[in-house]
Amino acid sequence: MSGYTLLTTPATNRDLRFTPAERAAANLTGLLPPAHRTLHHQIQHLLQKLRASPTSLTRYEILLNLLARDETLFFSAAQANLPLLLPMIYTPAVGDACQNYSDLSIPLRGMWLPISDPAPLRRTLDNWPAAAVDVIVVSDCERILGLGDLGANGMGIPVGKLLLYSACGGINPARCLPVVLDVGCNTPAVRDHDAYIGLPIPRVTGSDYDAFLDQFMDAAVDKYGPNVLIQFEDFGNANALRLLDRYRDRLCCFNDDIQGTAGVGLAGVLSALRVKGVKSSLQDHTFVFLGAGSAGIGIASLIVLALVREGISEEDARRQCWFVDSRGLIYKGRASVSPAKETFAHEASAELQAVAPKGLLEIVKAIKPTALIGVSTIRGSFSEDIIREMGSFNDRPIIFALSNPTSKAECTAEEAYAYTDGRAIFASGSPFAPVRLPGRDTNLVPGQGNNSYIFPGLGLGVVMSGARRVPDTMFLAAADTLSKLVDAEQLAVSCVYPDLNSLMDISASIAYAVCQEAKRLGLNDKNVDDLDVKTIREMMYEPGRGKM
Ligand code: NAP
Ligand code: MN
Repeated sequence: MSGYTLLTTPATNRDLRFTPAERAAANLTGLLPPAHRTLHHQIQHLLQKLRASPTSLTRYEILLNLLARDETLFFSAAQANLPLLLPMIYTPAVGDACQNYSDLSIPLRGMWLPISDPAPLRRTLDNWPAAAVDVIVVSDCERILGLGDLGANGMGIPVGKLLLYSACGGINPARCLPVVLDVGCNTPAVRDHDAYIGLPIPRVTGSDYDAFLDQFMDAAVDKYGPNVLIQFEDFGNANALRLLDRYRDRLCCFNDDIQGTAGVGLAGVLSALRVKGVKSSLQDHTFVFLGAGSAGIGIASLIVLALVREGISEEDARRQCWFVDSRGLIYKGRASVSPAKETFAHEASAELQAVAPKGLLEIVKAIKPTALIGVSTIRGSFSEDIIREMGSFNDRPIIFALSNPTSKAECTAEEAYAYTDGRAIFASGSPFAPVRLPGRDTNLVPGQGNNSYIFPGLGLGVVMSGARRVPDTMFLAAADTLSKLVDAEQLAVSCVYPDLNSLMDISASIAYAVCQEAKRLGLNDKNVDDLDVKTIREMMYEPGRGKM
Protein backbone atom coordinates (compact mmCIF):
# COMPACT_ATOMS: atom_id res chain seq x y z
CA MET A 1 0.00 0.00 0.00
CA SER A 2 1.42 3.41 -0.93
CA GLY A 3 1.87 5.99 1.78
CA TYR A 4 -0.89 8.07 0.28
CA THR A 5 -3.31 5.12 0.28
CA LEU A 6 -2.40 4.36 3.90
CA LEU A 7 -3.39 7.91 4.80
CA THR A 8 -6.61 8.00 2.79
CA THR A 9 -7.91 4.57 3.90
CA PRO A 10 -9.89 5.06 7.13
CA ALA A 11 -8.93 1.63 8.50
CA THR A 12 -5.18 2.21 8.11
CA ASN A 13 -4.88 5.95 8.53
CA ARG A 14 -3.00 6.90 11.67
CA ASP A 15 -2.79 10.57 10.81
CA LEU A 16 -0.35 12.51 13.01
CA ARG A 17 0.23 9.33 15.04
CA PHE A 18 2.58 7.93 12.37
CA THR A 19 6.01 8.12 13.95
CA PRO A 20 8.91 9.76 12.12
CA ALA A 21 10.36 6.29 11.41
CA GLU A 22 7.05 5.02 10.03
CA ARG A 23 6.70 8.12 7.90
CA ALA A 24 10.13 7.55 6.40
CA ALA A 25 9.50 3.83 5.80
CA ALA A 26 6.04 4.26 4.21
CA ASN A 27 6.83 7.24 1.96
CA LEU A 28 4.64 9.53 4.05
CA THR A 29 7.22 12.29 4.33
CA GLY A 30 5.72 15.51 3.06
CA LEU A 31 2.18 14.15 3.18
CA LEU A 32 1.82 15.06 6.86
CA PRO A 33 2.81 18.17 8.81
CA PRO A 34 5.80 17.59 11.08
CA ALA A 35 3.91 17.31 14.38
CA HIS A 36 3.62 13.87 16.01
CA ARG A 37 0.69 13.07 18.32
CA THR A 38 -0.19 10.09 20.50
CA LEU A 39 -3.56 8.34 20.37
CA HIS A 40 -4.23 9.44 23.94
CA HIS A 41 -3.57 13.05 23.05
CA GLN A 42 -5.87 12.88 20.03
CA ILE A 43 -8.69 11.26 22.03
CA GLN A 44 -8.47 14.01 24.66
CA HIS A 45 -8.51 16.62 21.92
CA LEU A 46 -11.57 15.00 20.32
CA LEU A 47 -13.44 14.90 23.64
CA GLN A 48 -12.64 18.57 24.18
CA LYS A 49 -13.94 19.39 20.72
CA LEU A 50 -17.13 17.40 21.33
CA ARG A 51 -17.72 19.13 24.66
CA ALA A 52 -17.30 22.52 23.06
CA SER A 53 -19.54 21.61 20.12
CA PRO A 54 -22.91 23.36 20.46
CA THR A 55 -25.53 20.82 19.33
CA SER A 56 -26.13 17.10 18.91
CA LEU A 57 -25.99 17.68 15.14
CA THR A 58 -22.59 19.36 15.18
CA ARG A 59 -21.23 16.60 17.44
CA TYR A 60 -22.71 13.97 15.11
CA GLU A 61 -20.98 15.66 12.17
CA ILE A 62 -17.63 15.72 13.98
CA LEU A 63 -17.91 12.02 14.77
CA LEU A 64 -19.07 10.80 11.35
CA ASN A 65 -16.43 12.84 9.57
CA LEU A 66 -13.79 11.43 11.87
CA LEU A 67 -15.06 7.91 11.21
CA ALA A 68 -14.66 8.41 7.46
CA ARG A 69 -11.08 9.58 7.95
CA ASP A 70 -9.59 7.69 10.89
CA GLU A 71 -11.38 4.58 12.18
CA THR A 72 -8.71 3.88 14.77
CA LEU A 73 -9.24 7.19 16.51
CA PHE A 74 -13.03 6.93 16.21
CA PHE A 75 -13.35 3.44 17.72
CA SER A 76 -10.57 3.94 20.28
CA ALA A 77 -12.34 7.06 21.55
CA ALA A 78 -15.74 5.34 21.50
CA GLN A 79 -14.62 2.15 23.26
CA ALA A 80 -12.88 4.13 26.00
CA ASN A 81 -15.79 6.55 26.55
CA LEU A 82 -18.98 4.62 25.87
CA PRO A 83 -21.37 6.38 28.28
CA LEU A 84 -20.35 9.72 26.77
CA LEU A 85 -20.28 8.71 23.10
CA LEU A 86 -23.19 6.24 22.79
CA PRO A 87 -25.82 8.99 22.99
CA MET A 88 -23.86 11.02 20.40
CA ILE A 89 -23.71 8.14 17.91
CA TYR A 90 -27.12 6.62 18.57
CA THR A 91 -30.22 7.77 20.43
CA PRO A 92 -30.95 10.58 21.11
CA ALA A 93 -28.54 12.32 18.65
CA VAL A 94 -29.24 9.94 15.78
CA GLY A 95 -32.90 11.00 15.90
CA ASP A 96 -31.93 14.63 15.32
CA ALA A 97 -29.53 13.50 12.61
CA CYS A 98 -32.20 11.54 10.72
CA GLN A 99 -34.61 14.46 10.99
CA ASN A 100 -32.01 16.74 9.42
CA TYR A 101 -30.25 14.23 7.20
CA SER A 102 -30.09 16.21 3.99
CA ASP A 103 -28.66 19.24 5.82
CA LEU A 104 -25.80 17.35 7.44
CA SER A 105 -22.23 17.72 6.21
CA ILE A 106 -21.22 14.09 6.49
CA PRO A 107 -19.96 11.56 3.94
CA LEU A 108 -22.66 9.18 2.74
CA ARG A 109 -22.36 5.73 4.30
CA GLY A 110 -24.30 2.51 3.72
CA MET A 111 -26.44 1.20 0.85
CA TRP A 112 -29.74 2.73 -0.20
CA LEU A 113 -31.72 0.18 -2.22
CA PRO A 114 -34.70 1.77 -3.98
CA ILE A 115 -37.64 -0.45 -4.89
CA SER A 116 -37.91 1.31 -8.26
CA ASP A 117 -34.46 0.19 -9.44
CA PRO A 118 -34.86 -2.32 -12.27
CA ALA A 119 -31.42 -3.88 -11.64
CA PRO A 120 -31.55 -7.14 -9.64
CA LEU A 121 -30.65 -6.49 -5.98
CA ARG A 122 -28.14 -9.30 -6.07
CA ARG A 123 -26.15 -7.43 -8.71
CA THR A 124 -26.42 -4.12 -6.84
CA LEU A 125 -24.94 -5.75 -3.73
CA ASP A 126 -21.76 -6.36 -5.72
CA ASN A 127 -21.19 -2.61 -5.64
CA TRP A 128 -20.48 -2.82 -1.91
CA PRO A 129 -16.71 -2.97 -1.49
CA ALA A 130 -16.48 -5.69 1.17
CA ALA A 131 -16.40 -9.27 -0.08
CA ALA A 132 -17.20 -10.63 3.38
CA VAL A 133 -19.90 -9.26 5.69
CA ASP A 134 -20.82 -10.59 9.13
CA VAL A 135 -23.71 -8.33 10.08
CA ILE A 136 -26.29 -6.40 8.06
CA VAL A 137 -28.63 -3.97 9.79
CA VAL A 138 -31.59 -3.23 7.53
CA SER A 139 -34.46 -0.77 7.92
CA ASP A 140 -37.34 0.36 5.75
CA CYS A 141 -37.39 3.43 8.05
CA GLU A 142 -41.15 3.43 8.62
CA ARG A 143 -40.76 3.91 12.38
CA ILE A 144 -37.47 5.62 13.19
CA LEU A 145 -37.14 5.61 17.03
CA GLY A 146 -40.34 7.31 18.20
CA LEU A 147 -40.19 9.77 15.29
CA GLY A 148 -42.28 7.97 12.69
CA ASP A 149 -41.66 7.53 8.97
CA LEU A 150 -38.47 9.33 7.86
CA GLY A 151 -37.97 7.50 4.56
CA ALA A 152 -34.43 7.33 3.19
CA ASN A 153 -33.27 9.83 5.85
CA GLY A 154 -33.41 6.96 8.35
CA MET A 155 -29.96 5.72 7.26
CA GLY A 156 -28.54 7.05 10.53
CA ILE A 157 -30.21 4.09 12.27
CA PRO A 158 -28.54 1.14 10.46
CA VAL A 159 -25.27 3.08 10.39
CA GLY A 160 -25.51 3.86 14.11
CA LYS A 161 -26.52 0.36 15.17
CA LEU A 162 -23.53 -1.08 13.31
CA LEU A 163 -21.17 1.42 14.92
CA LEU A 164 -22.42 0.08 18.24
CA TYR A 165 -21.77 -3.47 17.03
CA SER A 166 -18.13 -2.49 16.65
CA ALA A 167 -17.81 -0.10 19.60
CA CYS A 168 -19.63 -2.33 22.13
CA GLY A 169 -19.46 -5.78 20.57
CA GLY A 170 -16.11 -5.96 18.84
CA ILE A 171 -17.44 -6.76 15.37
CA ASN A 172 -14.98 -5.56 12.72
CA PRO A 173 -16.45 -2.43 11.09
CA ALA A 174 -15.15 -3.61 7.71
CA ARG A 175 -17.57 -6.54 7.94
CA CYS A 176 -20.71 -4.51 8.64
CA LEU A 177 -23.27 -3.43 6.04
CA PRO A 178 -25.93 -0.77 6.74
CA VAL A 179 -28.94 -0.97 4.41
CA VAL A 180 -31.99 1.19 3.82
CA LEU A 181 -34.71 -0.44 1.75
CA ASP A 182 -36.28 2.60 0.13
CA VAL A 183 -39.94 1.76 -0.51
CA GLY A 184 -41.11 5.38 -0.31
CA CYS A 185 -42.20 7.57 2.57
CA ASN A 186 -45.61 8.46 3.97
CA THR A 187 -44.57 11.62 5.81
CA PRO A 188 -45.34 14.43 3.33
CA ALA A 189 -43.09 16.96 5.11
CA VAL A 190 -40.15 14.60 4.61
CA ARG A 191 -41.01 13.28 1.16
CA ASP A 192 -41.90 16.62 -0.42
CA HIS A 193 -38.93 18.53 1.00
CA ASP A 194 -36.89 19.80 -1.94
CA ALA A 195 -33.67 18.36 -0.52
CA TYR A 196 -35.16 14.89 0.14
CA ILE A 197 -32.67 12.16 -0.82
CA GLY A 198 -35.06 9.22 -1.18
CA LEU A 199 -37.76 8.08 -3.58
CA PRO A 200 -40.42 10.80 -3.46
CA ILE A 201 -43.32 8.34 -3.57
CA PRO A 202 -45.85 7.04 -1.03
CA ARG A 203 -44.84 3.75 0.60
CA VAL A 204 -45.19 0.66 -1.56
CA THR A 205 -47.11 -2.00 0.36
CA GLY A 206 -48.68 -5.42 -0.19
CA SER A 207 -47.24 -8.07 -2.49
CA ASP A 208 -44.77 -5.68 -4.17
CA TYR A 209 -43.32 -4.81 -0.76
CA ASP A 210 -43.12 -8.48 0.24
CA ALA A 211 -41.47 -9.47 -3.04
CA PHE A 212 -38.87 -6.72 -2.59
CA LEU A 213 -38.10 -7.94 0.94
CA ASP A 214 -37.80 -11.51 -0.32
CA GLN A 215 -35.47 -10.38 -3.07
CA PHE A 216 -33.28 -8.54 -0.59
CA MET A 217 -33.06 -11.42 1.88
CA ASP A 218 -32.23 -13.88 -0.91
CA ALA A 219 -29.62 -11.55 -2.41
CA ALA A 220 -27.94 -10.98 0.97
CA VAL A 221 -27.70 -14.69 1.68
CA ASP A 222 -26.55 -15.47 -1.85
CA LYS A 223 -23.79 -12.90 -1.64
CA TYR A 224 -22.64 -13.30 1.98
CA GLY A 225 -23.66 -16.86 2.78
CA PRO A 226 -26.27 -18.45 5.07
CA ASN A 227 -24.48 -17.31 8.25
CA VAL A 228 -24.73 -13.59 7.57
CA LEU A 229 -26.65 -12.05 10.47
CA ILE A 230 -29.49 -9.79 9.32
CA GLN A 231 -30.92 -7.46 11.95
CA PHE A 232 -34.27 -5.82 11.27
CA GLU A 233 -34.49 -2.35 12.75
CA ASP A 234 -37.23 0.27 12.99
CA PHE A 235 -39.79 -1.32 10.71
CA GLY A 236 -43.39 -0.19 11.23
CA ASN A 237 -45.58 -2.04 13.70
CA ALA A 238 -47.58 -3.76 10.95
CA ASN A 239 -44.44 -5.29 9.37
CA ALA A 240 -42.06 -5.86 12.28
CA LEU A 241 -43.55 -9.03 13.75
CA ARG A 242 -44.84 -10.25 10.41
CA LEU A 243 -41.41 -10.11 8.74
CA LEU A 244 -39.74 -11.69 11.74
CA ASP A 245 -42.20 -14.60 11.60
CA ARG A 246 -41.67 -14.88 7.88
CA TYR A 247 -37.89 -15.26 8.00
CA ARG A 248 -36.84 -16.35 11.49
CA ASP A 249 -37.08 -20.11 10.87
CA ARG A 250 -35.43 -19.88 7.49
CA LEU A 251 -32.59 -17.37 7.87
CA CYS A 252 -30.16 -15.98 10.40
CA CYS A 253 -32.09 -12.88 11.49
CA PHE A 254 -33.75 -11.11 14.39
CA ASN A 255 -35.57 -7.87 15.17
CA ASP A 256 -33.89 -5.74 17.81
CA ASP A 257 -36.95 -3.62 18.58
CA ILE A 258 -38.77 -6.80 19.59
CA GLN A 259 -36.20 -9.37 20.67
CA GLY A 260 -33.29 -7.18 21.75
CA THR A 261 -35.67 -5.08 23.83
CA ALA A 262 -37.07 -8.29 25.27
CA GLY A 263 -33.60 -9.41 26.33
CA VAL A 264 -32.87 -6.11 28.05
CA GLY A 265 -36.29 -5.98 29.70
CA LEU A 266 -36.09 -9.54 31.01
CA ALA A 267 -32.54 -8.97 32.29
CA GLY A 268 -33.82 -6.00 34.31
CA VAL A 269 -36.64 -8.09 35.76
CA LEU A 270 -34.28 -10.97 36.62
CA SER A 271 -31.95 -8.54 38.39
CA ALA A 272 -34.88 -7.07 40.30
CA LEU A 273 -35.70 -10.56 41.63
CA ARG A 274 -32.37 -10.47 43.43
CA VAL A 275 -33.15 -7.24 45.29
CA LYS A 276 -33.99 -7.75 48.97
CA GLY A 277 -37.72 -7.51 49.57
CA VAL A 278 -38.72 -8.67 46.08
CA LYS A 279 -40.28 -12.10 45.65
CA SER A 280 -37.35 -14.00 44.22
CA SER A 281 -39.24 -16.36 41.94
CA LEU A 282 -40.46 -15.16 38.57
CA GLN A 283 -43.55 -17.31 39.11
CA ASP A 284 -44.67 -15.08 41.97
CA HIS A 285 -44.85 -11.98 39.80
CA THR A 286 -47.67 -10.34 37.89
CA PHE A 287 -46.80 -7.88 35.16
CA VAL A 288 -48.93 -5.08 33.81
CA PHE A 289 -47.61 -3.60 30.57
CA LEU A 290 -48.75 -0.15 29.53
CA GLY A 291 -48.36 -0.34 25.75
CA ALA A 292 -48.87 -3.45 23.62
CA GLY A 293 -46.52 -2.73 20.71
CA SER A 294 -43.28 -4.39 19.58
CA ALA A 295 -41.46 -3.63 22.83
CA GLY A 296 -44.18 -4.76 25.26
CA ILE A 297 -45.16 -7.90 23.41
CA GLY A 298 -41.47 -8.73 22.92
CA ILE A 299 -40.62 -8.43 26.63
CA ALA A 300 -43.69 -10.38 27.73
CA SER A 301 -43.00 -13.17 25.24
CA LEU A 302 -39.50 -13.63 26.64
CA ILE A 303 -40.80 -13.54 30.23
CA VAL A 304 -43.16 -16.35 29.17
CA LEU A 305 -40.24 -18.33 27.78
CA ALA A 306 -38.34 -17.82 31.04
CA LEU A 307 -41.37 -19.07 33.01
CA VAL A 308 -41.83 -22.08 30.75
CA ARG A 309 -38.19 -22.93 31.42
CA GLU A 310 -39.12 -23.03 35.13
CA GLY A 311 -41.79 -25.60 34.39
CA ILE A 312 -44.86 -23.37 34.13
CA SER A 313 -47.26 -24.12 31.28
CA GLU A 314 -47.22 -21.58 28.48
CA GLU A 315 -50.83 -20.68 29.13
CA ASP A 316 -50.29 -20.06 32.83
CA ALA A 317 -47.13 -18.12 32.05
CA ARG A 318 -48.98 -15.80 29.70
CA ARG A 319 -51.61 -15.18 32.34
CA GLN A 320 -48.94 -13.54 34.50
CA CYS A 321 -48.70 -10.76 31.87
CA TRP A 322 -51.55 -8.28 31.35
CA PHE A 323 -51.59 -5.58 28.71
CA VAL A 324 -53.13 -2.14 28.57
CA ASP A 325 -53.24 -0.39 25.19
CA SER A 326 -54.74 2.91 24.08
CA ARG A 327 -58.24 1.44 24.62
CA GLY A 328 -57.62 0.09 28.11
CA LEU A 329 -57.08 -3.38 29.52
CA ILE A 330 -56.85 -6.14 26.92
CA TYR A 331 -58.95 -9.20 27.79
CA LYS A 332 -60.54 -12.08 25.94
CA GLY A 333 -63.49 -10.92 23.90
CA ARG A 334 -62.60 -7.22 23.89
CA ALA A 335 -62.92 -5.42 20.55
CA SER A 336 -59.83 -4.31 18.56
CA VAL A 337 -57.41 -6.96 19.65
CA SER A 338 -54.75 -7.76 17.02
CA PRO A 339 -53.36 -11.31 16.72
CA ALA A 340 -50.19 -10.32 18.63
CA LYS A 341 -52.28 -8.86 21.49
CA GLU A 342 -54.66 -11.84 21.40
CA THR A 343 -51.91 -14.03 22.87
CA PHE A 344 -52.15 -11.96 26.05
CA ALA A 345 -55.94 -11.49 26.07
CA HIS A 346 -57.05 -13.45 29.14
CA GLU A 347 -60.43 -14.44 30.53
CA ALA A 348 -61.51 -11.58 32.76
CA SER A 349 -64.20 -11.50 35.46
CA ALA A 350 -67.16 -9.16 35.00
CA GLU A 351 -65.61 -6.84 37.60
CA LEU A 352 -62.34 -6.70 35.72
CA GLN A 353 -64.11 -6.12 32.41
CA ALA A 354 -65.95 -3.22 34.02
CA VAL A 355 -62.63 -1.71 35.12
CA ALA A 356 -60.91 -2.32 31.75
CA PRO A 357 -61.68 1.01 30.04
CA LYS A 358 -61.34 3.11 33.21
CA GLY A 359 -57.65 3.85 33.11
CA LEU A 360 -54.46 2.46 34.55
CA LEU A 361 -55.09 3.34 38.21
CA GLU A 362 -58.27 1.27 38.39
CA ILE A 363 -56.58 -1.55 36.50
CA VAL A 364 -53.62 -1.56 38.90
CA LYS A 365 -56.03 -1.59 41.88
CA ALA A 366 -57.86 -4.58 40.40
CA ILE A 367 -54.89 -6.69 39.22
CA LYS A 368 -52.38 -5.72 41.93
CA PRO A 369 -49.27 -6.33 39.80
CA THR A 370 -45.79 -6.68 41.27
CA ALA A 371 -44.32 -5.02 38.19
CA LEU A 372 -45.49 -2.16 36.00
CA ILE A 373 -43.72 -1.89 32.63
CA GLY A 374 -44.16 1.30 30.59
CA VAL A 375 -43.75 0.96 26.83
CA SER A 376 -46.55 3.31 25.78
CA THR A 377 -44.66 6.45 24.68
CA ILE A 378 -46.99 8.43 26.98
CA ARG A 379 -45.16 10.82 29.33
CA GLY A 380 -46.68 11.00 32.79
CA SER A 381 -48.90 7.94 32.34
CA PHE A 382 -47.43 6.54 35.59
CA SER A 383 -49.00 9.28 37.66
CA GLU A 384 -48.40 9.90 41.35
CA ASP A 385 -51.51 7.99 42.43
CA ILE A 386 -50.59 4.99 40.29
CA ILE A 387 -47.04 4.86 41.67
CA ARG A 388 -48.36 5.24 45.24
CA GLU A 389 -50.86 2.46 44.59
CA MET A 390 -48.04 0.15 43.39
CA GLY A 391 -46.19 0.98 46.61
CA SER A 392 -49.24 0.26 48.77
CA PHE A 393 -49.30 -3.51 48.15
CA ASN A 394 -45.65 -4.15 47.17
CA ASP A 395 -42.66 -3.83 49.50
CA ARG A 396 -40.47 -3.18 46.49
CA PRO A 397 -42.60 -2.40 43.42
CA ILE A 398 -40.88 -2.93 40.07
CA ILE A 399 -41.53 0.15 37.93
CA PHE A 400 -39.88 0.36 34.51
CA ALA A 401 -40.58 3.47 32.42
CA LEU A 402 -38.98 2.34 29.18
CA SER A 403 -40.43 4.79 26.67
CA ASN A 404 -37.86 6.89 24.79
CA PRO A 405 -36.71 9.56 24.54
CA THR A 406 -36.63 11.01 28.07
CA SER A 407 -39.53 13.33 27.26
CA LYS A 408 -41.74 10.26 26.68
CA ALA A 409 -40.88 8.32 29.85
CA GLU A 410 -43.98 7.18 31.78
CA CYS A 411 -42.48 8.73 34.92
CA THR A 412 -39.12 10.05 36.04
CA ALA A 413 -36.75 8.24 38.38
CA GLU A 414 -37.37 10.89 41.00
CA GLU A 415 -41.15 10.40 40.83
CA ALA A 416 -40.87 6.61 41.13
CA TYR A 417 -38.61 6.90 44.19
CA ALA A 418 -40.32 9.85 45.86
CA TYR A 419 -43.84 8.34 45.77
CA THR A 420 -42.66 4.99 47.18
CA ASP A 421 -40.27 6.30 49.88
CA GLY A 422 -37.38 5.02 47.79
CA ARG A 423 -38.77 1.47 47.60
CA ALA A 424 -39.36 1.35 43.83
CA ILE A 425 -36.97 -0.64 41.68
CA PHE A 426 -36.87 1.70 38.75
CA ALA A 427 -35.36 1.41 35.29
CA SER A 428 -35.83 3.55 32.22
CA GLY A 429 -35.20 3.54 28.48
CA SER A 430 -33.31 6.84 28.48
CA PRO A 431 -30.78 7.70 31.17
CA PHE A 432 -31.80 9.38 34.43
CA ALA A 433 -29.32 10.76 36.96
CA PRO A 434 -29.03 9.17 40.43
CA VAL A 435 -31.53 10.51 42.96
CA ARG A 436 -30.93 11.52 46.59
CA LEU A 437 -34.21 11.56 48.51
CA PRO A 438 -34.54 14.19 51.28
CA GLY A 439 -33.05 13.00 54.55
CA ARG A 440 -31.16 10.06 52.99
CA ASP A 441 -27.40 9.74 52.93
CA THR A 442 -27.10 7.57 49.81
CA ASN A 443 -28.21 7.83 46.20
CA LEU A 444 -30.66 5.57 44.42
CA VAL A 445 -29.32 4.69 40.97
CA PRO A 446 -31.77 4.14 38.11
CA GLY A 447 -30.66 1.50 35.61
CA GLN A 448 -30.90 2.28 31.91
CA GLY A 449 -32.42 -0.55 29.87
CA ASN A 450 -30.25 0.25 26.88
CA ASN A 451 -30.52 -2.25 23.99
CA SER A 452 -26.73 -1.93 23.60
CA TYR A 453 -26.41 -4.27 26.58
CA ILE A 454 -27.73 -7.16 24.51
CA PHE A 455 -27.56 -6.95 20.72
CA PRO A 456 -23.81 -6.40 20.19
CA GLY A 457 -22.87 -9.40 22.34
CA LEU A 458 -25.67 -11.49 20.90
CA GLY A 459 -24.56 -10.69 17.35
CA LEU A 460 -20.96 -11.43 18.26
CA GLY A 461 -22.00 -14.84 19.61
CA VAL A 462 -23.99 -15.60 16.47
CA VAL A 463 -21.05 -14.63 14.26
CA MET A 464 -18.48 -16.54 16.34
CA SER A 465 -20.55 -19.71 16.47
CA GLY A 466 -21.62 -19.48 12.85
CA ALA A 467 -25.19 -19.93 14.02
CA ARG A 468 -27.68 -20.36 11.21
CA ARG A 469 -30.68 -19.11 13.20
CA VAL A 470 -31.34 -16.76 16.09
CA PRO A 471 -33.88 -18.51 18.32
CA ASP A 472 -35.48 -16.73 21.29
CA THR A 473 -33.58 -18.93 23.72
CA MET A 474 -30.43 -17.04 22.68
CA PHE A 475 -32.05 -13.88 24.05
CA LEU A 476 -32.93 -15.80 27.19
CA ALA A 477 -29.29 -16.83 27.56
CA ALA A 478 -28.20 -13.24 26.92
CA ALA A 479 -30.66 -11.88 29.51
CA ASP A 480 -29.51 -14.41 32.13
CA THR A 481 -25.91 -13.44 31.50
CA LEU A 482 -26.53 -9.71 31.61
CA SER A 483 -28.49 -9.99 34.82
CA LYS A 484 -25.76 -12.02 36.52
CA LEU A 485 -23.27 -9.26 35.75
CA VAL A 486 -25.15 -6.88 38.07
CA ASP A 487 -23.31 -7.03 41.40
CA ALA A 488 -24.56 -6.77 44.99
CA GLU A 489 -23.33 -3.20 45.28
CA GLN A 490 -25.48 -2.14 42.32
CA LEU A 491 -28.51 -4.04 43.63
CA ALA A 492 -28.06 -2.31 46.98
CA VAL A 493 -28.73 1.04 45.29
CA SER A 494 -31.65 -0.49 43.32
CA CYS A 495 -29.77 -0.52 40.02
CA VAL A 496 -30.70 -3.50 37.82
CA TYR A 497 -28.17 -3.04 34.99
CA PRO A 498 -24.35 -3.16 35.02
CA ASP A 499 -22.03 -0.24 34.28
CA LEU A 500 -22.10 0.86 30.62
CA ASN A 501 -18.33 1.35 30.77
CA SER A 502 -17.84 -2.41 30.81
CA LEU A 503 -19.89 -3.06 27.65
CA MET A 504 -17.04 -4.78 25.76
CA ASP A 505 -16.61 -7.27 28.63
CA ILE A 506 -20.38 -7.69 28.95
CA SER A 507 -20.59 -8.44 25.22
CA ALA A 508 -17.86 -11.08 25.53
CA SER A 509 -19.82 -12.83 28.30
CA ILE A 510 -23.06 -12.67 26.33
CA ALA A 511 -21.32 -13.92 23.17
CA TYR A 512 -20.01 -16.88 25.12
CA ALA A 513 -23.49 -17.73 26.41
CA VAL A 514 -24.91 -17.41 22.88
CA CYS A 515 -22.19 -19.71 21.48
CA GLN A 516 -23.08 -22.30 24.11
CA GLU A 517 -26.77 -22.00 23.28
CA ALA A 518 -26.02 -22.37 19.55
CA LYS A 519 -24.10 -25.53 20.35
CA ARG A 520 -26.83 -26.90 22.62
CA LEU A 521 -29.30 -26.50 19.78
CA GLY A 522 -26.90 -27.84 17.15
CA LEU A 523 -27.10 -24.57 15.21
CA ASN A 524 -23.38 -23.77 15.17
CA ASP A 525 -21.57 -24.11 11.87
CA LYS A 526 -18.30 -23.26 13.63
CA ASN A 527 -16.59 -25.15 16.42
CA VAL A 528 -17.08 -23.29 19.71
CA ASP A 529 -15.40 -25.82 22.02
CA ASP A 530 -12.23 -23.79 22.42
CA LEU A 531 -14.01 -20.52 23.11
CA ASP A 532 -14.22 -19.07 26.59
CA VAL A 533 -15.02 -15.52 27.66
CA LYS A 534 -11.35 -14.55 27.78
CA THR A 535 -10.60 -15.91 24.30
CA ILE A 536 -13.65 -14.17 22.89
CA ARG A 537 -12.67 -10.91 24.55
CA GLU A 538 -9.22 -11.15 22.97
CA MET A 539 -10.65 -11.81 19.53
CA MET A 540 -12.98 -8.80 19.59
CA TYR A 541 -12.20 -5.94 17.27
CA GLU A 542 -10.38 -3.09 18.87
CA PRO A 543 -8.42 -0.73 16.66
CA GLY A 544 -4.95 -2.13 16.23
CA ARG A 545 -5.74 -5.54 17.75
CA GLY A 546 -8.37 -8.29 17.75
CA LYS A 547 -8.83 -10.94 15.15
CA MET A 548 -12.48 -10.39 14.28
P1 NAP B 1 -45.36 0.71 19.34
O1 NAP B 1 -45.19 -0.60 18.67
O2 NAP B 1 -45.81 1.89 18.58
O3 NAP B 1 -46.39 0.49 20.58
C1 NAP B 1 -46.88 1.51 21.40
C2 NAP B 1 -48.01 0.95 22.24
O4 NAP B 1 -48.41 1.94 23.17
C3 NAP B 1 -49.24 0.56 21.44
O5 NAP B 1 -49.73 -0.69 21.89
C4 NAP B 1 -50.23 1.66 21.80
O6 NAP B 1 -51.61 1.25 21.85
C5 NAP B 1 -49.81 1.98 23.19
N1 NAP B 1 -50.35 3.27 23.62
C6 NAP B 1 -50.35 4.44 22.95
N2 NAP B 1 -50.99 5.38 23.67
C7 NAP B 1 -51.38 4.78 24.81
C8 NAP B 1 -52.10 5.21 25.93
N3 NAP B 1 -52.53 6.46 26.05
N4 NAP B 1 -52.33 4.33 26.92
C9 NAP B 1 -51.90 3.06 26.82
N5 NAP B 1 -51.22 2.58 25.78
C10 NAP B 1 -50.97 3.44 24.78
O7 NAP B 1 -44.00 1.14 20.04
P2 NAP B 1 -42.86 0.18 20.62
O8 NAP B 1 -41.88 -0.14 19.55
O9 NAP B 1 -43.49 -0.93 21.37
O10 NAP B 1 -42.13 1.18 21.61
C11 NAP B 1 -42.81 1.73 22.72
C12 NAP B 1 -41.87 2.60 23.52
O11 NAP B 1 -40.87 1.78 24.11
C13 NAP B 1 -41.13 3.66 22.69
O12 NAP B 1 -41.12 4.88 23.38
C14 NAP B 1 -39.73 3.13 22.59
O13 NAP B 1 -38.78 4.17 22.55
C15 NAP B 1 -39.61 2.37 23.88
N6 NAP B 1 -38.58 1.31 23.78
C16 NAP B 1 -37.64 1.24 24.75
C17 NAP B 1 -36.64 0.29 24.68
C18 NAP B 1 -35.61 0.22 25.75
O14 NAP B 1 -35.77 0.81 26.77
N7 NAP B 1 -34.53 -0.52 25.57
C19 NAP B 1 -36.59 -0.59 23.61
C20 NAP B 1 -37.59 -0.50 22.62
C21 NAP B 1 -38.58 0.45 22.73
P3 NAP B 1 -52.45 0.76 20.57
O15 NAP B 1 -51.91 -0.61 20.27
O16 NAP B 1 -53.83 0.75 21.06
O17 NAP B 1 -52.18 1.74 19.47
MN1 MN C 1 -34.95 0.45 16.92
